[in-house]
This record gives sequence, structure tokens and C-alpha cells, in this order.
Amino acid sequence: MKKNFVILFLFSFAFIATNCVKKGVKEEWAIVLHGGAGSAKPMEPHVRQFYLDLLDQALEIGTSMLQEGADALDVATQVVVWLEDCPFFNAGKGAVTTMEGIHELDAAIMDGRNLQAGAVAGLRDIKNPILAARHVMEDSPHVLLIGEGASAFAAQMGLTVVENSYFSTRDPDPNGTVGCVVLDKNGNLAAATSTGGMSGKRWGRVGDVPVIGAGTYANNHTVAVSGTGHGELWIRRCVAFDISALMDYKGLSVEEAAAQVIFEKIDPMEGSGGGVICVDKEGNIAMEFNTGMMYRAWATAGGERGAAIE
Ligand code: ASP
Repeated sequence: MKKNFVILFLFSFAFIATNCVKKGVKEEWAIVLHGGAGSAKPMEPHVRQFYLDLLDQALEIGTSMLQEGADALDVATQVVVWLEDCPFFNAGKGAVTTMEGIHELDAAIMDGRNLQAGAVAGLRDIKNPILAARHVMEDSPHVLLIGEGASAFAAQMGLTVVENSYFSTRDPDPNGTVGCVVLDKNGNLAAATSTGGMSGKRWGRVGDVPVIGAGTYANNHTVAVSGTGHGELWIRRCVAFDISALMDYKGLSVEEAAAQVIFEKIDPMEGSGGGVICVDKEGNIAMEFNTGMMYRAWATAGGERGAAIE
């Protein structure tokens, strides 16, 4: 009789332990990046493959750093620098222009461990706006610098200054904004986003990307989020912070929170196309968009890896 109890006890213990482990699987690290959202456009198979390869190359930068134990902030920064230098996205080289044909760039970065953040808006001559945002976070007492003041600060920090024409390419219709969210091996979350903004915008217009809590947000207790889409709506709905808040206050999963914001809160607003990429503190990923496509790629320490457009 006693022996039966022991066996029953051991079985129950094994059952509970297995199920807990299955449900609570925590990824050692995870990364998601995006290259913007928009209407689906017909694409030749080789063009599609070209973009998927680009996304994978950017992803590889992040995954190899994460495997070696790099910090989430450094990973997000390096991935976005690469995407800014890549001329096929609307960020850094390849950025769209204002009504007057000038490039004005916005970027932001946020550190989930201490809620430090840095952002720049309306940069016309700094090669890598995301590096300028990082300097604002780390080397100034401020969060957001704009225009000439932001440029002067970035130049003072030793960043590469370029002519505005450096950002021009022959592509009249580059892909979108770029962003990256990361969970590293130490449990730190970071988010980074960079953009040329909306094509044909008014000069001086600032989008959601450098507005902390709208297009960019990271908090180690919840989630890291990077957005892309119609920035004015992202600002009005505090999209990135709302996802974090739904997880924090309502206990929603990252998938539920992202879907609720994109489909229930943003969708009913007129002209509201876009999407978000998110990674939570457990390494769960969400990639939601209400447009025809969002360029994206993702990987986890557990072996998940992929890139997709539609
Ligand atoms: N969200 C960006 C902005 O409004 C644009 C984009 O993501 O395509 O500036």
C-alpha cells in the first residue's frame, strides 16, 4: 500500500513538473526585426528572395552577437545601424523625402533594464540616427533632441556627418522604417527604431518613432516594442506603451496585447495601417500588422528562425 502511494506521488510529481516546464519555457535570448509595413505589392520571386535574404543578413548580425552573450542594447543598435546603411529601407541611406525633397530622419532607442531612453528627430546630416539616439540616452541628461541641436550634439559625439544627398537612392519607393527588439541572455530587453518618416511629409514633422511609448518602448518587466506605420495614429494611441500596459495591468500575453492594440484599437481609426514587433521578458514573440505586409525576421535561442513579408 505504502509502495503504491510512493509510486503515485512520483508520477504526479513528474506530470506536474513536465507541464510546468513546458508552459514556462523561457528563451535564453530572442530577437525580432522589421523593415516596415505597408500595402502588399506584387513581387517577382527573385525580388522577394532578395528582401528575405536582406532580412536574414540583418538577423544574423543579431543572432551571432546574442549567442556570444552580447547586451540587448548593443544588439538592437548594431542591427539597426546595418539596416540604416542598407539602401533598401526607409531609414538612414534610402530614407524618403519631405515635400521639399529633403531627408529628415527620426530614431529612438530604449533600455528595458532602467527605462533609459534616447531619441532624435528631424536629423538631416547624421549618417546613423540610431547612434545619435544612443548618445542622447547615454551622454546627455535628455531624452529627445531635434533638428540642428540634435545634429550638433551628434557631431560633437564624433558621429559621421554627411551631406543630405547621401541618403538619396534611385529607389522612389523604398521599403519601410526599420526596428529591432531583443531579449538577451541576462534577461534585458531593448528596442530600437529608425525611419525617414512618412513620404512627402511637411518639413519639421515628427512621427511616432522618436516618441517614447508610441513607436518605441522597452521595459524588462514586460516587453520591448518597435512599431511601423502611420505615425500620427501611433502617437495618439500610445501604441508601444499600451502593449506594455495591457501586459502589466491586465496580465495579457504579448500576443494578446499586440493583437488587441493593432486590431481593436488602431484598426477602427481611419487610415491606420501598420504593425509592431514585440519580444517579452520570457522571449515570446509577437508580430502583428493590419496592412498587407510587414518585412520581418525573428529568431530564438530555442531554434526558431524565419523571415517573412506577407
Ligand atoms: N512610423 C513612421 C512614421 O510615421 C513611418 C513608417 O513606419 O513607415 O514616421
